[in-house]
Amino acid sequence: MKRTHAEIKATLLAQIEAELDKALAWQEKSKSPNLTAFETQVLSIRKSIGIRVLQEVIKDAESDLPEEIDCPTCKKRMQKKGKRPQIIETRLGTLELEREYFHCKTCKEGVFPLSEQLQVSDLHWSESVARQAVWLSGKVPFGDVSKIMAEVGEVSISKSSVWRLSQKWGGYFRAEREKEQELEHFPVYQDFSSTDQRMGVSMDGFMVHVLQEGWKEVKAGCLFEIAGEKILDKETLTTEEIGCATQISHIAHLGGPEVFGKHLWGEAQRRNWKNVPETQIIGDAARWIWNLAAQYYYKSYAVVDWYHSVEHLATAGEVFYGTDLPARQSWLKKQKKTLFQEKADEVILAIKEKVKKKRGESRKKLLQEVSFFENNQARMKYRSARSAGWLTGSGVIESGAKQYKARFTGAGMRWQRSSLERMLPLRAAIMSHDFDARWKTLYYSPPN
Ligand SMILES: [Zn+2]
Repeated sequence: MKRTHAEIKATLLAQIEAELDKALAWQEKSKSPNLTAFETQVLSIRKSIGIRVLQEVIKDAESDLPEEIDCPTCKKRMQKKGKRPQIIETRLGTLELEREYFHCKTCKEGVFPLSEQLQVSDLHWSESVARQAVWLSGKVPFGDVSKIMAEVGEVSISKSSVWRLSQKWGGYFRAEREKEQELEHFPVYQDFSSTDQRMGVSMDGFMVHVLQEGWKEVKAGCLFEIAGEKILDKETLTTEEIGCATQISHIAHLGGPEVFGKHLWGEAQRRNWKNVPETQIIGDAARWIWNLAAQYYYKSYAVVDWYHSVEHLATAGEVFYGTDLPARQSWLKKQKKTLFQEKADEVILAIKEKVKKKRGESRKKLLQEVSFFENNQARMKYRSARSAGWLTGSGVIESGAKQYKARFTGAGMRWQRSSLERMLPLRAAIMSHDFDARWKTLYYSPPN
């Protein structure tokens, strides 16, 4: 029997009145309560009123549903089997549903029309609770998610439930990502409205402890637009415009460069890379990065991270001068300047000169530095890169790697491979600011 508006209102008012009476009785009894006591008391009223209103309006929604329904498969009339309970944790508290159950004798299938209307995809969690738990699990450890939800959201969800939800949805995020690699037209989750026609790509690796395997490399990549940013030169006090990365989207992969390369290229396609006239690739000197560069990004302006090159200079200085700090520093300063002015050949000669004077291990190390500069010389056009507004440092991917590490490499943290593989796309989506958009798509059209 469908209740009238007035009937529902009367039911709710009676319940609210009872709650208010309880609160007033509390106030009369308590001796000069402080703000915390008031706050706690009123919050508990808010909570019990909230859940009651929710309960009543949902009850009303069910009475709107048809009394009889046909089987979605065979179209025969289904049997009404009576109400079945369902308990759902919502942001308003624990909702106790009574849902009508219909069953088809022919197909041996049943439906809960109310659950379908409410679009409750998880048995025990409302969409908001599930989304918050999964989103948080991409940022902090599972146990912390449970504590934050209880403390801040007043939602009770156990660590193992958080884990289960994140595994389920992480799996969906991952499957969606993989599907995107095969699509010709990629879904666009972010609004990359800027038409600044310059894009960049960068990659890096970091180590995660995988159970039964040990430390394994996760490869991280990002795509970004390159915009100009005005900065003040502290020495000359003149402002200069340098390139900076904006609209950054991230991907990560536990495994070899081949699959990672495909994923990153998929992301590049999704971001319309092919139609961007000017592009850049930047990274440290890891061989796999430049192999992928040769395969996919051969038309892009290539730069080896400036700080990485400086580190190699510093190593050479250290090997040669040892503890003679002033000599080391003045040599480094000179070589940095030379390198920045794109005279890598002079730097190479300067190190080669030192090679002659050393034997054994030191000689070997210096020769390694020589080959670093020889191999990467073409990607060391620092001065022109900087003045043309390209990036000279790969901070964009390094800060990305730091964000992954903050979540996945905490003290003593070890991951099951399959679990890590599901968590990486969640983390990447959060970092790319498209978690919500992806969530919505997946929640309302879950993959089969
Ligand atoms: Zn049927």
